[in-house]
Amino acid sequence: MTDIKEQGDRMEEACGVFGIYAQDSDIHASEAAYYGLFALQHRGQESAGIAVADGKTIRQYRNLGLVPEVFDEEILGGLTGHIAVGHVRYSTFGGKDVINAQPVVARCKMGMLALAHNGNLVNADALRSDMEDNGAIFQTTVDTEVILNLIARESSKGLVEAIKSMMNVVRGSYALVLLAKDRLIGIRDPYGIRPLCLGRIENSFVLASESCALDAIGAEFVRDVRPGEIVCIDESGIHSHYVQSPLGSRLCLFEFVYFARPDSVIDGINVYQSRVDAGRRLAMGDDVQADMVIGVPDSALAAAMGYAEQSGIPYGDGLAKNRYVGRTFIQPEQGMRELGVRTKLNALPRNVRGKRIVLVDDSIVRGTTSRKIVEMLRTAGAKEVHMRISSPSVLNPCYFGIDTATSEELIGHDHSVEEICRFIGADSLKFLSLEDLLRTVAGSGCQFCTGCFDGRYPIDPQTGEMIAQE
Ligand code: AMP
Repeated sequence: MTDIKEQGDRMEEACGVFGIYAQDSDIHASEAAYYGLFALQHRGQESAGIAVADGKTIRQYRNLGLVPEVFDEEILGGLTGHIAVGHVRYSTFGGKDVINAQPVVARCKMGMLALAHNGNLVNADALRSDMEDNGAIFQTTVDTEVILNLIARESSKGLVEAIKSMMNVVRGSYALVLLAKDRLIGIRDPYGIRPLCLGRIENSFVLASESCALDAIGAEFVRDVRPGEIVCIDESGIHSHYVQSPLGSRLCLFEFVYFARPDSVIDGINVYQSRVDAGRRLAMGDDVQADMVIGVPDSALAAAMGYAEQSGIPYGDGLAKNRYVGRTFIQPEQGMRELGVRTKLNALPRNVRGKRIVLVDDSIVRGTTSRKIVEMLRTAGAKEVHMRISSPSVLNPCYFGIDTATSEELIGHDHSVEEICRFIGADSLKFLSLEDLLRTVAGSGCQFCTGCFDGRYPIDPQTGEMIAQE
């Protein structure tokens, strides 16, 4: 058995994108983008940006920080125009620098373009290097600029054909919102790995990573953008174009486990319901004797509820969460690391003292969080702590938009369930099987990327070869 080392950082989530084509005088595109991005803040806390077009030109503002830290009324007031795209970023590619904040704006033969990207390309390095050999100059280190360059170099074909050409050469995941001076375009990669949906408010159209952002601005959900679809919105309405996606969709399963907000519906699947169902299935056939089920706030509360319902063990609160700790919170140095989890979560001793606890969390990535929570509950007087995880063990890194650590840093990569149980200090540990997790999202007609759980990626991360689903 290899030594399991404590790691401070964890895998972090992908980005969030938003777009609006406003055709109603009472809807201000930049303001709508602000509220939309605020609803997507959970998808990225490192930087935020909005670009706006008024039919002639594009203005933009982006900076490091949370949405309300980056924008104020004056900045939003200066972003005049009826079409907007916005982005919240957690870096999965490229360094933490304002130059890498999105949307990325460029001027080409087709005029100004602004692009915001959620996802990750596996062949960005190779494409960039080829273009650099041909004299291209890049201002950022993000793969989004590679996409923008690929579109710009096919300008002579017109925007939609240029996008199709780009889609034929890039490999990876991408949900994109692209702004031209007079139109808004949404693009989803041929596998539909990252979510993107279309909404409507009055006569205005909206694109967003998750439906919760539509709710936030009072827009109604129209439909999800389809895998391989290019949806163009301009003054004449909506027009769709497609690149062939004969291999079937591969939506990221981890969106349902952890990323997405519970009040979102993605490709027809209600995120909250899928989590409750995961908890229920986790309890099926589990004969653990316990007094109370608790969940790790916030992402595991739905699963804990489902577990309690199915098992008949009462649900209770065992942990309180400081709601103001974002992920930009400065991670303490080694000596202070204990505080990292403590400042986010604290046990409720009166509720857990003397009890046998079933502790439900949504995932174990490196194991450090679970280990600290188990210890916290024991210190608060819990008699037994039985850890239950509403997803399978994460065995492999993600190449499609989640900044996972390397394989060695993932505790599930080379440790058995017993070894993980020992490391986190629980009395017992059980994961939901992949088959059961897939049952929680069944019925949508989608297929899923399960690479982090079983290594079956839709695209070979080394060669970029697209792999058909068996
Ligand atoms: P750990 O096992 O210490 O790496 O962390 C697992 C915990 O992190 C669980 O409570 C999850 O809810 C949470 N988690 C899972 N995925 C992510 C992610 N991408 N970013 C931040 N936290 C996550």
